Amino acid sequence: MAEQHGFRRVLVTGGAGFIGSHLCRRLLAEGCEVLCFDNLLTGHMSNIDELLGRPDFSFEHYDVTNYLYVDGPLDAILHFASPASPADFERLPIQILKVGSLGTHKALGLAKAKGARFLLASTSECYGDPEVNPQPETYLGRVNPVGIRGVYDEAKRFAEAMTMAYHRHHGVEARIVRIFNTFGPRMQIDDGRAIPNFMTKAILGEDVVVYGDGSQTRSIQFVDDLVEGIWRLLRSDYVGPMNIGSQAEISMADLARTIIRITESRSELVFGPLPADDPKVRRADNTLAREILGWEPQVPPEEGLRMTADYFRKALADRGST
Ligand code: NAD
Ligand code: UDP
Repeated sequence: MAEQHGFRRVLVTGGAGFIGSHLCRRLLAEGCEVLCFDNLLTGHMSNIDELLGRPDFSFEHYDVTNYLYVDGPLDAILHFASPASPADFERLPIQILKVGSLGTHKALGLAKAKGARFLLASTSECYGDPEVNPQPETYLGRVNPVGIRGVYDEAKRFAEAMTMAYHRHHGVEARIVRIFNTFGPRMQIDDGRAIPNFMTKAILGEDVVVYGDGSQTRSIQFVDDLVEGIWRLLRSDYVGPMNIGSQAEISMADLARTIIRITESRSELVFGPLPADDPKVRRADNTLAREILGWEPQVPPEEGLRMTADYFRKALADRGST
């Protein structure tokens, strides 16, 4: 099967994380041999446990900010290593800056050496707290470089710049996906992002805390849709950033209410302080992905949230919390 698309041997950095673990499975299903490098900073072996015995999968406990060595050929590198939850922006600021800068540099150097295609996991955070809504790829963003979110936003913006420099200067085949808020099974209970927090509190029947007045918006997509978009982008000829995200915008208060309803919870909605620089609106303009990749989200948000709630119920029960 790998002969059809040419990606026989693929490295996924951050492959033991939430998105990375879904990506590894998809690449294996497409017939690729998958090498997963992860230092387990925010990822977990439980995300990839069931893959470990396979002859076409290998895991290396590795910090990708260090020199990267891979024996043998590589056809693609998907660089997904990086903490991604705003809760980690204050906890792990240096690690985030290092993996976005040094880690991206090392992964690009390896791509150049191997003649491999390079796909960068970038983010809608590149748009910062945007003045235009929805955000097309041409919008240059409004980021506070010295704010608490700056460590993540600027690391990713640097990573994009470095990726394009390797493309222009060294001819590395580059793809950049700007990922909008994605959720699904294998997000961690203590991840700190809105959906894991809302799910956990709702299932436990505790107060669900919405930051600010809850009017800030995001567009959310189920992880399977994202992975489909990434797979299509990897195989496409399109160079330069591409948004993969839903156009359906929801306020955080409505998202919390939806999660309380679908989990049949008796939790109350309460309000807490809004973190600095929290974007007031965010919504993907996914015209490019629709036109170039023929991609659009297939999983209705409520269906995805129900599948995710099933996962969180089990994860909480396994932890002995319910
Ligand atoms: P995650 O925290 O679950 O996964 C990140 C993985 O990277 C973890 O397994 C972690 O251990 C690993 N990692 C971190 N630093 C590393 C290092 N120096 N060396 C090796 N491994 C390292 O987060 P996620 O939500 O799966 O995000 C994956 C990627 O997608 C990130 O690059 C993130 O910026 C990007 N992204 C995610 C979203 C989203 O909504 N989930 C949105 C935009 C962008
Ligand atoms: N948020 C919230 N309660 C929480 C966690 C997050 O109200 O327990 C808000 C957060 O302030 C932001 C939105 O939900 O406005 C989405 O936050 P998330 O951490 O999921 O990701 P972001 O899109 O901000 O990177």
